[in-house]
Amino acid sequence: MPVWRSMSAKPMIKIVTEPPSTGLTYTTCSAINGTVDLCAHEDLTLKDVRISLIGCGRRSLEVGRNGSRSSDEWIFLSLHMPIDGQALETCCNVPARQQRPIPFHFRVPRQLPTGTCNHTKIAPCLQDQHLCLPPTICSEGADAMCPDLISIGYYIEVVIETDTTVTPSRSILPQDHRFRERLEVTILPTFPEEAPLDLESHSTTFMPRATLSLKRHILGRTLGHVEANAYQPNAIMLKANGGAPSTSSVHIGLAFSPHSETVSIPHVERVCGDLVSNTYFGPRVLHEWPQRLPEAQHTIDPLLNYKVTTPIINYAPGELNWTEGSVLMAVSRTCYRTSLEIPFGVHHVRNKRFMPTFHCCLFSRTYTLVLKIAFSGGQSIRVTVPLQVGVEDSMTQESLDPQGARPPDY
Ligand SMILES: [Zn+2]
Repeated sequence: MPVWRSMSAKPMIKIVTEPPSTGLTYTTCSAINGTVDLCAHEDLTLKDVRISLIGCGRRSLEVGRNGSRSSDEWIFLSLHMPIDGQALETCCNVPARQQRPIPFHFRVPRQLPTGTCNHTKIAPCLQDQHLCLPPTICSEGADAMCPDLISIGYYIEVVIETDTTVTPSRSILPQDHRFRERLEVTILPTFPEEAPLDLESHSTTFMPRATLSLKRHILGRTLGHVEANAYQPNAIMLKANGGAPSTSSVHIGLAFSPHSETVSIPHVERVCGDLVSNTYFGPRVLHEWPQRLPEAQHTIDPLLNYKVTTPIINYAPGELNWTEGSVLMAVSRTCYRTSLEIPFGVHHVRNKRFMPTFHCCLFSRTYTLVLKIAFSGGQSIRVTVPLQVGVEDSMTQESLDPQGARPPDY
């Protein structure tokens, strides 16, 4: 058994997960197994051992006009592993210079305990969301498209209390007999695909429909009217085990009403799409879908939005098949219609780490897909729709639970 060498009087505490948590992402129902390894330079008698899985959010906000900041911490998850008295008795005596492993076992819960969110006046669509575990967010490593003012972390924490009444008088242990150690773990909970948003009630944020007076050139006469209608695409689903995210496609319907029969149907040269990541945070609880809050309320109750734009679509549709349809906008008797199905994904985006769409009590992440449809002649039309990013439950039982579901043996 290895003996740790240290001149420190403190007992050494090491939290080790099996398999090692470095580079590992846990998801909903994953087992987090491991040991807390204790070692000291003299005999140690443990009075209490508390091993917990903690979820914690932090935010740092500017207060006042001098730029000073206030930071606060929000514990939203605190699971304690029960260690009964008999089990503690068997591991309470740690002989000097010998390593004593204390096993632990956690399972990432499906949701937070009911009492975690006791906020009132939460919009009905967000009530369940406030009880979902948020994903780990930190600005280190790949760009998570989040400001460094906020973070969400999970860690295994152990607090041990030594029994000073049985410690020999020659003890070199410090008077403080409570010791604490933490190990950060990364958690990406599953987020199933939600039903599409009701865009009517989000009309100030999204613009799925837009029209354009099409001209031969910028100062030329109007050739007709184009109307574009985009629909919310299926969600992009991330994989908690690090696999490639799923792809999706966005459907755009186009209608063209020429001003005269001599006008030819326009040519769609290119469709470009930007994915805008919105991270909302502020001094208060997010009680409403952030994109639905009126601008005036943002002023009274400043809600900050950290936006990052990522180009993900650059699509040349080629020749489209237009069909003659019903009259549009009463500007002509004829109307031509066509549609586009444009595939897209985020798997090719480098140096960015996509988070799922989520709404916890203090932070919120949403995505908007901004589409620009360019016609020959230089004009373009712009539509915006929401996009959900979810997390698939793609883990096999074996990968969820590499050591089996049984509690640890002492
Ligand atoms: Zn809440």
